[in-house]
Amino acid sequence: MGNGAGEPSIEDFEKQATDFLDANAALLEAEQRFVWGEGSDRVVVFEEKDTVAELADLATACEWRRRKFDAGFGWISGPSKYGGRQLPASYERSYLRLEAQYKVPNQNAFTIGLGMVAPTILAHGSDTARDLYLRPMYRGDIVGCQLFSEPGAGSDLASLQTKAERDGDEWVITGQKVWTTGAQYSDIGEVIARTDPTLPKHKGLTGFVVNMRAEGVEVRPLRQMTGGSSFNEVFFNEVRVPDDHRLGDVNSGWNVALTTLMNERAAIGAGGGGGGGVNMYTRVIEMVRHFGLDSDPLVRDELADLLIHHRVAGYNNKRALDKIKAGQLPGPEMSIAKLTGTLNASRLSAFVARVLGPRLVADTGEWGTYAWSALVLGTPGGRIAGGSDEIMRNIVGERVLGLPKDPGIDSKSAFNKLTLPRG
Ligand SMILES: Cc1cc2nc3c(=O)[nH]c(=O)nc-3n(C[C@H](O)[C@H](O)[C@H](O)COP(=O)(O)OP(=O)(O)OC[C@H]3O[C@@H](n4cnc5c(N)ncnc54)[C@H](O)[C@@H]3O)c2cc1C
Repeated sequence: MGNGAGEPSIEDFEKQATDFLDANAALLEAEQRFVWGEGSDRVVVFEEKDTVAELADLATACEWRRRKFDAGFGWISGPSKYGGRQLPASYERSYLRLEAQYKVPNQNAFTIGLGMVAPTILAHGSDTARDLYLRPMYRGDIVGCQLFSEPGAGSDLASLQTKAERDGDEWVITGQKVWTTGAQYSDIGEVIARTDPTLPKHKGLTGFVVNMRAEGVEVRPLRQMTGGSSFNEVFFNEVRVPDDHRLGDVNSGWNVALTTLMNERAAIGAGGGGGGGVNMYTRVIEMVRHFGLDSDPLVRDELADLLIHHRVAGYNNKRALDKIKAGQLPGPEMSIAKLTGTLNASRLSAFVARVLGPRLVADTGEWGTYAWSALVLGTPGGRIAGGSDEIMRNIVGERVLGLPKDPGIDSKSAFNKLTLPRG
């Protein structure tokens, strides 16, 4: 029996989901569940494909989302008004568990749009913005990105300088963003801009949904050390945005940014080894077995330690994610989730590097070796994205442990005045 009116029982729901998956995707063979990507053992944190391959993958990913959404599995816990099914979060988890057993297109391109931007539009968007964007985002008709960081504003996000000036029913945005993941294929972006430079820095900001194809938006890809280019510089040159695309009240952008960042930290925490990355651990166990190290007491000891950290973080994340799904604004537990997620990913990455040794960096074609190099090279980025480890520690120290506030940067200190010689 389900709990709410018209709500299917979890058994009936799982039967519907299994029927849908059986009809639309191939069941993975047991050994295929240890691999990421079709027929390869590639393990990635950030995508590293060229643009043509990336766009082809995106089209397949969008097609899968469309099919899933039309069958009622695209936004299982979302409000029915915007195309969701309004079922409890446990149904969403149940579907994801089932889907993981099938060969379906990689959904990474939606992580930012659905994990961060859509929840922010739902929480702070106008009726127009919600009607225009939520359903198409969950249906895979459009993709979203997050444009917060600037060359001079990362950890200290409130120092951002991109400005939005009001012009009648529109805003005119000018400035530069950086590290924008997926901007090259996104249709819309969430921008935080300065709307009142006379107010204290946290208070003069406002959030907007911007059409990434609008006149005046220029996207320039950046190359990362894995060889791919997932990130971009984005220039806004007098880009016009209607006022009904504003997120929240004028000069309340800091709260809007916090909603997005909390969701981002939850997503990174869950994916980076803290909670949802079950397959990564299954793969590492398989890799240890493959090299005959599963009876080595030191390897076993270290592996057990990794799994315990992963399991503990998973319990914390589950509690925090349930809070989000219940419509509550997540708190510092998201910072704990993010921090434990990236620390666990770093532990995993160090373990893999120790077990593989030189096989990690020389591509011999042997199963389960060079494939891990992308994980090892990508993990440090996770420790910075969405708030660095140090910033997460500051938040936990202040808001959970009640330690004195981070003094921040003292603009009058001699250290801050130091300049490096040119040339
Ligand atoms: C993989 C990846 C994806 C990203 N995707 C996006 C995206 O899609 N959209 C977007 O807007 N941005 C994105 N970013 C940018 C990211 O949010 C910033 O890199 C991050 O906030 C840090 O800012 P910064 O790079 O300017 O470093 P800085 O803020 O300059 O920090 C430099 C160092 O100083 C430390 N530090 C700074 N302040 C303090 C303090 N008060 N106490 C202690 N230590 C401190 C930091 O921990 C860090 O080690 C991404 C970054 C990465 C790595």
